[in-house]
Order: sequence, then structure tokens, then C-alpha cells
Amino acid sequence: MVGLDTALSAAIGGRTVKPLEKAFGITTVGDLLRHYPRRLAERGELTDLRELKVGEDVTVLAEIKTCETKGFRQSVRLQVIITDGRGRLELVFFGPRNQWRSKELQPGVQGLFSGRVSEFNGKLQLTHPDYTLLRGAQLAEQEADLYAGALIAVYPASKDIRSWVIGNSVNYVLDVLDPVPDPLPVEVRARNGLMSLDEALRAMHRPASRGEWFQARNRLAWDEAFAVQLVLAQRRKAASVNPAIARPPRADGLRSAFEKSLPFELTNGQLAVGQTLTEELSGLEPMHRLLQGEVGSGKTVVALQAMLQVVDAGGQAALLAPTEVLASQHARTIENMLGPLAHAGQLGGADNATRVVLLTGSLPTQTRRAALLEAASGSAGIVVGTHALIQEHVQFADLGLVVVDEQHRFGVEQRDALRGKAAAPPHLLVMTATPIPRTVAMTVFGDLETSILSELPAGRSPISTSVVPVAEKPAWLDRAWSRVREEVEKGRQAYVVCPRIGADVAEEDEPTLDDEPARRPPLAVSDIAPMLAEGPLAGLRLGVLHGRLTSDEKDRVMSDFAAGSIDVLVATTVVEVGVDVPNASVMVVLDAERFGVSQLHQLRGRIGRGEHPSVCLLVTELPEASPSRERLDQVAATQDGFALARLDLETRREGDILGAAQSGRHSQLKLLSLARDEKLIEAARTEAFDLVAGDPGLTDHPLLASQVAALVAEEQAEYLDKA
Ligand code: ADP
Ligand code: MG
Repeated sequence: MVGLDTALSAAIGGRTVKPLEKAFGITTVGDLLRHYPRRLAERGELTDLRELKVGEDVTVLAEIKTCETKGFRQSVRLQVIITDGRGRLELVFFGPRNQWRSKELQPGVQGLFSGRVSEFNGKLQLTHPDYTLLRGAQLAEQEADLYAGALIAVYPASKDIRSWVIGNSVNYVLDVLDPVPDPLPVEVRARNGLMSLDEALRAMHRPASRGEWFQARNRLAWDEAFAVQLVLAQRRKAASVNPAIARPPRADGLRSAFEKSLPFELTNGQLAVGQTLTEELSGLEPMHRLLQGEVGSGKTVVALQAMLQVVDAGGQAALLAPTEVLASQHARTIENMLGPLAHAGQLGGADNATRVVLLTGSLPTQTRRAALLEAASGSAGIVVGTHALIQEHVQFADLGLVVVDEQHRFGVEQRDALRGKAAAPPHLLVMTATPIPRTVAMTVFGDLETSILSELPAGRSPISTSVVPVAEKPAWLDRAWSRVREEVEKGRQAYVVCPRIGADVAEEDEPTLDDEPARRPPLAVSDIAPMLAEGPLAGLRLGVLHGRLTSDEKDRVMSDFAAGSIDVLVATTVVEVGVDVPNASVMVVLDAERFGVSQLHQLRGRIGRGEHPSVCLLVTELPEASPSRERLDQVAATQDGFALARLDLETRREGDILGAAQSGRHSQLKLLSLARDEKLIEAARTEAFDLVAGDPGLTDHPLLASQVAALVAEEQAEYLDKA
């Protein structure tokens, strides 16, 4: 019997086993069959040579046009031009020992040529490529096999093992492979029009037609989506096995007092989401909700309503923020918004008041101890903190609701740890200001239900964004600094954002976009701040903010900026999330191309928060035509966070997206594309949740259960690696 688990050495033997393991970690028949072709080449339909790029490893199907010997003696070389009918590519073989090749490299012959594309005298070439020729009548037996069909699978290959060698091994394996059992229930296959796994694995490598190949790809991508959704469905199911404590609203509680005290009307979106939360918190099923909303859409108010409802019902709420700056800012904002409602036991506190405490890693021991005590005794209804909250001995009297702000920095495991701090599962509200495309929401946050706050509160002023191209328009940079001065003279404030802290200090989540050739190091706060102070912004009050300051220093800078005693804040991405100073009306981002699309959108969300029209200037040295420069133009052109998130999705690899969510599943997602496979993911999700509803442990589906176990094991291994 040869099955997917059979060792490759037992199935094919021979010289290719070792290189396959070395290059791709392939050790079993299954591994080899899951080394999918990158594309199909069609006999007679030649590769478009004009699309080749320097540095790429390529396998091209082309026809020999000329073959000539050039130079003499030591410099003798064979120069072959191949063509696809439009573009051409040069092949070079150096040295007298390659002369024999001119016998077989005859004009008119077609072949597959493999190598790394280089450039010489402005022309693209392959030096000493490997090749295999399609010689029609004189085909060697194994080549006859390989090229019997019109479609030729082109594999990800390496210098040591070429595409056609992999193809030969795959063919051999497919010939001896016994029928592969199918983990998918027949009904699921039928409902979704999927071919069987056995058919799909064979057709992926030896398709009879392009249509068949796409069907095979569809089935195999479906499996990937399905496995992920099964994990999520099980996680979701497990989280709702134990009932939560119902926290119904009270008419005379803190929540309604707070709502009456609000100086503004809630938006329709806030009202609708508030209603959903009210209902879910009142029930016994633990709430699991993701709240997405553009920066400034007023998520904090909505979260606070939910927290107060829980406090009114006798429970506590924890609010988790990704950084200390944000945690202390949240604590301060919440205390301010609540006023006397947050001053239990203090002079002027309301009768039914609660207390808000801040709990972070760097508090002085005394303060920390007091905060821990308030959390444990229950005297603090709202506990705000960072990761420190999920560590160590933090205890709650009755934790009823966990709110996670800016979730993309928290992993599932961390959420679970925090939930573990309550007797009954607490309700969970995750908030994110990074708009998440539907496919990512379904995949990365698939165990949560989603609400969206799409409308901004009335009276917000628009942000206009412009690119400042220093290369073409050096004078515009001076103009940018004058703009900052003008705003400050009008009483406004400004941000200047740099990618780096100092010459040799990186910010924790410093952007690393490497699609541009190496250039000078990114601009640093520690260089730019003094430069501005002495030069274009001389006389203005400058402050500096980055991740390396102590939390006391950060706090001081932030409150000085909020109080207006700093005019210009020179900062790293620590200002990206949550920082709220409505008087700030201009932001200058230096080396803007170093930031991702969504990150830039987040950054500019720091301005335009008050009644003043705001301007965001993206400064770059990149020339006009480069891809990164186009991304900047797109950020400047739209304010729609969802559109930008989709753009981000298209320009990044899947692994990056999942990795960013600390949810490493990339090696499992070979075919699935979050940018393209929305329908498929949706269908797989429906089926997976249905299946798990009826069979939570997958006991009736052992093959599926083992796929899921493998996925979870891998995910955990990666999580441990990172921890
Ligand atoms: P988010 O967390 O979604 O970025 P916040 O909750 O911090 O947004 O709200 C941003 C600002 O808007 C805050 O100053 C908040 O007080 C204010 N705000 C919230 N809701 C409204 C509303 N309905 N009308 C006017 N201002 C609002
Ligand atoms: Mg916020």
C-alpha cells in the first residue's frame, strides 16, 4: 500500500529523495503531493519572456532561435537566444566543454529552461541554465511520460532540484499511489461541487485541462479553509459550553446615569451596537464580539456602556490595552468621562459610584499593591491595564466582562488566559480600529461575531492628505514645516512621525518593508527632534515620545501634549493607536513609505479629531513610479479604511497577515488566498460550523479530527516559539 503517509524513500527511492528533503523538507508521499505546481505551462504556448525579472528563479517554456559560438580560447562561450515569439532571452554557457550542446540546442527546438535571471549589458540572461528539450519523436521514455499531456506542471524548484525532476517524481508516485481516502463527508462535497481528494491530488499535478486544474485547486484550497474553520468552530463551541453569568441592565444604574451625562448624542451606529451588547450581556451564553470601527468612531463610549452595565449587575470589567501609554490614557479618559460616578468612597463621589484602577507592569510597588487589592476585593468595578493584567497573581472578585482594545496585538491564547481568571466565563468584547476585510475577520477572528461602527460622530472635520515628494519637489518639505508653524500660531498642535527611535534603537513594532532596495537607514526621532528644534521649527515647544521612555516619562509627555504645553510631538508609531488630542491638526510622516497602508491610516487618525480641518503630509524620497510610492498616493486618495485594508491585503503575503495576528498558520495555507477566496471561505465556514454543531469532538469524522489536530499542534508550536 502506498498512501500519503508512506515515506518517500519507500515509494520512489533513487537520487531525488535527498534533494527533495533538503530543499523543501519533503519526506512523505503526502508532502510531495502537497508541493503544488506554481503554474501550468502549455505545450506550444510559450512563457511570456517580457515578464521576467532580474533575480527570479524561473522555468520557462520557449523555442530556440539561434545558437552561436562566441569568443575564443578561454573566453569561448555558447550563446543561445530563446524566444516566445515576442520577447527573447539569452542563455550563456562558458568554456570549451560546453560546445557539444550546440548539437542539441538547435533552432526551432522547444524546451524548458531553468535558472536565475541576471542582467548583462542591459539584456536579461540565464547563465548555465538547466534545460530539458521537447524533442517530439526522439523523446526519452521518462520525458515522454512527462510531456504526454499538453499541460506541463511547473513546480517551485531550486538550483539542486529542477522543476521537471520534481515532476518526474510526482508522476512516479501518482502511478503507485493507492486511492486516497476522503476526509470530507460526501454530502459536503456534493453541496459544494467539490471533486474527491483523490481526484484533486492527481489533477493538481496531471490535469487533463486547465478547467480541471482549477477545480483541483479549488478543492484543495477548500480543505485548507475548512480545517481552519473547524478549529474556530470547535474553539467557539468550547467557549460556550459553560454558561456565563447574565448581566442585565438596570434602569437606575451607573450606565443610565452615564448616558444622561454625555455631552453629545450617540450616533445611530453606537445605539445599534449598544443594543446588541445590552442583549448579549443579559444572556447566559458568553458574548464573543469583535467591534470594528474607524478611528474616532466612538468605540470607547460603547465599551464603557457595556462595562457599566456589568458593574451595575455586580460584576467587574477589565480593559486591556496594547501599551502602557494607551492603558493610562484609557484609565484617565474613563475617569474623566465618569466624573463623580468613578469616585466611590471619595468626597463628591456619587452614591452608587464605582472605582477605576490602572494596573500596569511599571507601577511603583505601593500603587501596584493597592490596585491589585482593589481588583481582588471588587471595590474597583473597572480595571484598566496592559499584558500585566493577564500575568501573575492578578485576581478579580467577579470578572464579568473583558474588553480588549486593538486586538491585533493579542493572541488567542492571551485572551484565553485572561478569561481563565473568572469563575464563570466572562463576556468578551474585542475592539479594533484597523478595518478588517471580511475574509480576515472570518479566518483570523473567526471565533468572534462582528459588529461595525461605520459612521463617524457628526461635526468631525475632514483630513486632507498629500504626498510630499522630496526627490522631485524639495521645496515642498520647507512648505510642510511652515505649515506646522502656521497651525501652531493658530493655537493648534502637530505630530511629526519617524520610523525609528534612534540611530541604533528600534521601536518594538518598527515597520520593516523591504520591497525597496537598501537605502540610507530610516529617519530617527533622536536625530530629527534636535534638527527641527534648531532649524525649521525653532522657537516652538517640542516634545519627544517613543517606546524607550519610561512610562512616567511617556505619561508626562502625553499629558503635556494633551494640556497644550507641547506644540509639536516628535514620535514613533507609539502614537498610532488610541492617542486622543482633538487640538492636533497637522501630522508630518517622514519616510512615509516605510509604513504599511493600514498603519498610515491609523497614524493619520490621530488628527481630525476636533472641529479643526486637518492635514496629513506623507514625506517620501521615493521616485514617482515605484510601487511603494503608488501605495502612498492611494492612502492620500482615500479615507475609506476598508478600501485601504483590502489594498493592504493584496500587497502582503497571507503569512504576514496571519502572522500579524499572532496566529501562525501559514504553512497550512498554501493555496488559500485571503484576497481572492472570500466565497470559498464563507462556504467552508458555514459547513464547518454546521458539522461541529452536530459533532463537536469530530468523533464521527476521524480523518477530519486528525487534520484539525495537526493544525492546532502547529499553531501551538509556533505560539511557543514566539513566547
Ligand atoms: P475610537 O476609540 O473609536 O477611536 P473614541 O471612543 O476614542 O473613538 O472617540 C473619539 C472621540 O469622539 C472622543 O473624544 C469621544 O468622546 C468622542 N465621541 C464619541 N462618540 C461621540 C458622539 N456620538 N458624538 C460626538 N463625539 C463623540
Ligand atoms: Mg479607541
